[in-house]
Amino acid sequence: MKMTTGGAAKLDGGSSDEADSQESLRERRIRTSTLYADVPPIDNFVLHPLPGVIRFGCWNSQICFIRHPFDAGKWGHIQSYLVDEHVINARNIVEPREATAEDLLVVHSKEYLESLKQSYVVAGIIEVPPVALLPNFIVQSRVLQPFRNQVGGTVLAGKVAKERGWAINLGGGFHHCCGGQGGGFCVYADITLCIQFAFTRLSFARVMIIDLDAHQGNGHERDFVGDDRVYILDIYNSQIYPFDEEAKIRINQRVELRIAKQAFKPDLIVYNAGTDILDGDPLGQLRVTPAGVTSRDEKVFEFAKDAYENPVPIVMVTSGGYMKSSARVIADSIKNLVSKRLITVGAVV
Ligand SMILES: [Zn+2]
Repeated sequence: MKMTTGGAAKLDGGSSDEADSQESLRERRIRTSTLYADVPPIDNFVLHPLPGVIRFGCWNSQICFIRHPFDAGKWGHIQSYLVDEHVINARNIVEPREATAEDLLVVHSKEYLESLKQSYVVAGIIEVPPVALLPNFIVQSRVLQPFRNQVGGTVLAGKVAKERGWAINLGGGFHHCCGGQGGGFCVYADITLCIQFAFTRLSFARVMIIDLDAHQGNGHERDFVGDDRVYILDIYNSQIYPFDEEAKIRINQRVELRIAKQAFKPDLIVYNAGTDILDGDPLGQLRVTPAGVTSRDEKVFEFAKDAYENPVPIVMVTSGGYMKSSARVIADSIKNLVSKRLITVGAVV
C-alpha cells in the first residue's frame, strides 16, 4: 500500500492557520489521558501489554496466511516462554489500558478514525481480504480493540521507561502507520503516540527512534517530517515494501549507532525490534539468524546504557515477524538481556 498523505494528521481537520489551537488541543488530550496508569512499584521490569488479551478471535492462522506468515499467539507465547523458564513472573507484567478515541486523536485525524468503521478499509490496511466481509462491530472487537490495547502498551512503556530505565511492549511497533493513513498491517501509529505523550507528560525534549525491523518505518518518518526533536535511525531491506522514497528524507542516518551517538543525544530511545529480519521470513527476505537477533538487541540495549554519560531510557516494541519461531527468538533475546544485566528483573519465584 502506498502512502499518499504526508506529515502528522491535522487535529479535527483544522487548517494550518489554526496550528496553535490544534497544538493546545493535542496537549489537552494528552494531559487528560488515562493511558499513563500508575504501575506498581515493584523492583523489577515490566512487560506489557498482557499478551493473553491480544487474540484474533475467530480468525485462524489459515486466513491470515493469505498474505502474512502469522503466529496469532506470538505475544502470548513470548510471555509463556519467559514465565515457564523463570525469567519473569506475573508481577512483571502490566496490562495497559486501551487507547481511546481521544487518545488516538492526538495523532490521527477524525477522518482516518472514521474510515476504520468500514470493514473493507481495515481489511486493506491489515492485508487480510476476508475481513472486509465481517460486520464492523466484529472487526472493532476482534481486530481493532486488540490493536488499541497494544497502542496503550507502547504509550505506557514510555512512562515506565522513564521510571525504571526501560520497558518492553510485547506488542506494538506499527511503524507503517502515520497520522493520516494506515498500511502494512499497521492500523494505529503507536510509536508516534508514545513520543508525543513523552514530550508532553514526561518533559522529554529529544527522542531517538532506532528502527531495525526489516521494513522501512515510513509511518513515524512521515509523522516527524520537519520535527528535529526526533532523530531516526532506520536499517531496512530497501528491496521490499513500502518503497517510500518521499519518507526517506526524514531518516537522519541509516547504518551505524556510533554516528547516531555523535549526531544526537536523546532523552528517550524507542527501539522497533522487528524479527522479520530472520532467515526464512517471506516478507523480510533477509537472512539473519536467531543469534543475530539476540546480538542486535544486545547492541541496542548496550547503546542505551553506555553510549552517553548517563543511561538513556529505552522502550522496545516487537513489531513485525510472525513466523512460528519468532516468539522463541524474542524470548531468548530477552533472556540474554537479563543475563548480560542490560535489563534488571526483580525476584522471580
Ligand atoms: Zn517489517
